Amino acid sequence: MKQVILKQGREKSILRKHPWVFSGAIQKVNGNPGPGENVEVLTSGGHILGHGAWSPQSQMSVRMWTYTDEIAGPEFFHRKISQAVSSRSSFLSGNLTNNAVRIIHSESDGLPGLTVDQYGDYLVCQFSSAGAEHWKDTVVAILSEIVPCKGIFERSDLSIRKKEGMIESTGLLWGEEPPEFIEIVEDGRKYQVNIRAGHKTGFYLDQRDNRTLVGVSSKDREVLDCFSYTGGFAVAALAGGARHVTLLDSSGPALSQAERNISRNGISDDRYILMEADVFQSLRKFRAENRSFDLIILDPPKFVESRNQIDKGARAYKDINMIALQILRPGGLLFTFSCSGHMEDLLFQKIVADAALDAGRELKILKWLSQAPDHPVAASFPEGKYLKGLMTIV
Ligand code: SAH
Repeated sequence: MKQVILKQGREKSILRKHPWVFSGAIQKVNGNPGPGENVEVLTSGGHILGHGAWSPQSQMSVRMWTYTDEIAGPEFFHRKISQAVSSRSSFLSGNLTNNAVRIIHSESDGLPGLTVDQYGDYLVCQFSSAGAEHWKDTVVAILSEIVPCKGIFERSDLSIRKKEGMIESTGLLWGEEPPEFIEIVEDGRKYQVNIRAGHKTGFYLDQRDNRTLVGVSSKDREVLDCFSYTGGFAVAALAGGARHVTLLDSSGPALSQAERNISRNGISDDRYILMEADVFQSLRKFRAENRSFDLIILDPPKFVESRNQIDKGARAYKDINMIALQILRPGGLLFTFSCSGHMEDLLFQKIVADAALDAGRELKILKWLSQAPDHPVAASFPEGKYLKGLMTIV
């Protein structure tokens, strides 16, 4: 068995079942393991901590599969995948109002580097670590056996694969080629998802519950959906009885898809308008024109990609939140999000509070928001929580 021996005292995080071993914690590697190969992880005193996957090119040298003497293999993956899938059963089986669900959420399901989303009859996988890549064929065979589906597609077009020394990889892994658009149902709303070209694996499944909350909060309101993408929140607001929704996004194709999604839900085209424009500039333009709204959604892309971008990202979050608060009518609601894992919850809350001070608005937080429960966070892996949001009122 190939072995990784840690430096003295560096076993603490593994004893707490945190799956990452960084290169700086390693004293010695025995047996020259290849990318993704199983290694036994030991303390400096020779005590076995568990087994993981070796990532020779990455700073994150080992990701743990087990914290016991069990070695990862087909039986291990069968058990872990079955557990993850069955824990989603309340979302999946016989639930006609939701057929798009994250069934494997990487570290938080005990499977570092593996993400699997189900969109109706198709599964979409991302393999982001050397270890997950190493077991790809095994994982696909198990998924095809356990989850009733027509096809399994890969969307490993992830920049993080470079850090693992792997190139991007996309395409059919098993079964039938998926159609251009897969129609999904989310809490009763219909969306078309392009799993080949859409963001992430095709859709922002993590915002499901927050979209539903926006839906029930939208009745008779004039809504501004900033960073609308394919209309996730806009459809929810319109289905929930919003008087009118302005969808704002810099991507023309995303807005075209949003339009198709709105019409699939039987909503007339006099209730919304599409604006292909930059959010930072458009918010300023609305303010200059004295335009105002009753409900604003800010769901921007990740402004903080790494730790050294926190300050720059904080300024961007503050900027859009401040102007949004300035153009919110009294009694108006702001739903504001950050999907940057490096942005701590409390810092985000402070940024929004500062934005309210600068905007001269008294802001109350009504609810703290996060990712939907099919994106669980293992208690031993707090990094699994990345999406944070606030439902606020002025
Ligand atoms: N709210 C969406 C997801 C938003 S993804 C949902 O629930 O599905 C982020 C979106 O922001 C993308 O569609 C991207 O095109 C858009 N975007 C990124 N930077 C932008 C900018 N400066 N102005 C306008 N849109 C922007």
